[in-house]
Amino acid sequence: MHPLLQRQLRRHVGSPEALPPEWRRLVQAIDDAYQAHDEDRKLIERSLEITSKELIQRYDTVRSELVERLKAEEQLRLWAKVFESSSEGIFITDAERRIISVNRAFVEITGHRPEEVTGRPPSLLGSGLYDGSVFEAIWASIDAVGHWQGEIRDRRKSGEAYPAWVAVTAARNAHGAVTNYIAIFSDISDRKAAEERIRFLAHHDCLTGLPNRSLLRDRLEQAIAKARRKGERVALLFIDLDRFKTINDSLGHHVGDSLLQLVAERLKACLRSDDTVCRLGGDEFIIVLSEIANVEDAAKVAAKVGEVLAEPYCIAGAEFHVTPSTGISLFPDDGLDIDTLIRNADAAMYCAKDNGRNNYQFFTADLNTRALERLSLETSLRRALEREELVLHYQPQVDLRTGRITGVEALVRWLHPEMGLVYPERFIPVAEDTGLIVPLGEWVLRTACAQAKAWNEAAADPVGVAVNLSARQFRQHDLVRTVARTLDETGLDPRRLELELTETMVMQRPDEAILTLGRLKAMGLQLAIDDFGTGYSSLAALKRFPIDRLKIDRSFVREISVDPDDAAIVYAIISLARSLQLNVVAEGVDAGEQVEFLRRHRCDVMQGFLFFPPLPEDEATRFVLGGGRSLREGDAAAARGSLTS
Ligand code: C2E
Ligand code: MG
Ligand code: MG
Repeated sequence: MHPLLQRQLRRHVGSPEALPPEWRRLVQAIDDAYQAHDEDRKLIERSLEITSKELIQRYDTVRSELVERLKAEEQLRLWAKVFESSSEGIFITDAERRIISVNRAFVEITGHRPEEVTGRPPSLLGSGLYDGSVFEAIWASIDAVGHWQGEIRDRRKSGEAYPAWVAVTAARNAHGAVTNYIAIFSDISDRKAAEERIRFLAHHDCLTGLPNRSLLRDRLEQAIAKARRKGERVALLFIDLDRFKTINDSLGHHVGDSLLQLVAERLKACLRSDDTVCRLGGDEFIIVLSEIANVEDAAKVAAKVGEVLAEPYCIAGAEFHVTPSTGISLFPDDGLDIDTLIRNADAAMYCAKDNGRNNYQFFTADLNTRALERLSLETSLRRALEREELVLHYQPQVDLRTGRITGVEALVRWLHPEMGLVYPERFIPVAEDTGLIVPLGEWVLRTACAQAKAWNEAAADPVGVAVNLSARQFRQHDLVRTVARTLDETGLDPRRLELELTETMVMQRPDEAILTLGRLKAMGLQLAIDDFGTGYSSLAALKRFPIDRLKIDRSFVREISVDPDDAAIVYAIISLARSLQLNVVAEGVDAGEQVEFLRRHRCDVMQGFLFFPPLPEDEATRFVLGGGRSLREGDAAAARGSLTS
């Protein structure tokens, strides 16, 4: 029975068994009602309990979702701030690599407004320096490994190019497909400029901006390596300013500094681009001259440095005068390594100081004399042309079969007012180096042609004149025009003019040479290869040159009767000439046995002291025209006798 009912019954009725049966049934019914009520209440309580738990759970979920969302929004705000305020340019593209978003720095760096680039490919930022394949390679790398970074040159909207450091990352979704590309870049112009400046300062002197000792070593090393390969010289000029210390001490370092800067400017201005001038420190400078053709070039630069530095300097309203003392050392003559060359140039510089300053000295004493001699030769050669100190001598060429003079070779001489007769071997190389050979060569050509014209008008048989061309003349663009004009002006029949060239001259640029020779040949004149056998002979190329004659060098002819090798060479050259249908001349014939040999091997023409030495104009005229006599007539007659016998 329900305990509540039991208590009530006990209080009011006593034992329930004492009740009459109808009452007991009533009590039973009331008890049932009590029990049912209890059951219901328990059910209600239970369901209430379940509902509240669920509510709590739901509440928790919603709350944490809300927190997450707030966090994400906070994060996004943060990212947006980073995106916008980043000093690095950022742009984001879609999966099709079209720009969808850019930040402020992007606009500042590139100069493009967002609306101008949205929907466009990033390649529009390129400088045009790369072709498509470069970008394709970058995209391929991003797609393969997810990112790329490196330096590229971009171009601002203004057109200005700049170096940029770029990092690109691919963003993928949960399925691994690329949804966006994010590129971050910065303009690294400043950094590069700073790096450049640091590099520059490591190798240059800060006062003058000239290369310093360390760069000097580099440059000198390169110059030496190149000279070694090409068999050339390098000159090192050690320059020290005379009495610089006095200026520095008495007028202050700022004046000294300005003076050094002006000296540096002047030194730079008097050099070729391949040469190096550097400051060793203090008032010492070094000039490296690469590819020195001859010693005089170094002397010329030293003389020029002397002149240029001696000009007055104007500093802070005052005028100063400074002179240099220069020492010159040469690779390989005075040293094979950098230290020796610097040491020897330094020693030579001290000799210059001892010599009374304001001069230059070579480390090797006889180079001094040679350089001076050649320099004075150059100066007087220049004058020789104007003062008409040059003359032509003519060496007759004799036909081996008939013993008749077929032509002459014009050979230039210089009637020097003090040195007397100077031979071409001495001054032609100087004329070549200085370019004087061009006017000199034109003079020779004109004089020889005019002479030949005069002879041909008087002589019964035609007489040819051979003129030597130098390498530099042959390279002259207007050579063909000059020859044509000379023939025109002198009226000489072109068939009577022969030009002598050397193998080296034509072999240097064979294709160009063939063209030039072809044009000369087309005018009707004769072409000969002089000193044949001494140069680089490519027989295959020889066949292609439109030449008429080979002149066997006199070094082979000299020994033909004693040296079997030389005899074999001369024989081979004659055979070669025969098979190429070229006329062949033996040079330097000065003995009867040589004539014997040449005749046996059917050489065409001979030229040499045995018959005639080169003759002055009047003597040559007498011989060419048939009636003259000379000191050598006896020899010539003997030789002619041996020919006709
Ligand atoms: P080359 O053209 O081979 O001239 C021949 C040289 O051999 C001449 O010397 C001549 O005097 C010399 N000679 C001739 N016969 C004999 C001989 O029997 N024995 C010896 N030992 N020598 C003989 P030269 O006149 O002193 O000329 C030397 C070189 O100077 C010439 O060699 C030529 O290459 C050059 N040369 C001369 N005149 C001119 C010129 O007007 N222009 C140019 N560019 N070069 C010239
Ligand atoms: Mg010659
Ligand atoms: Mg010769």
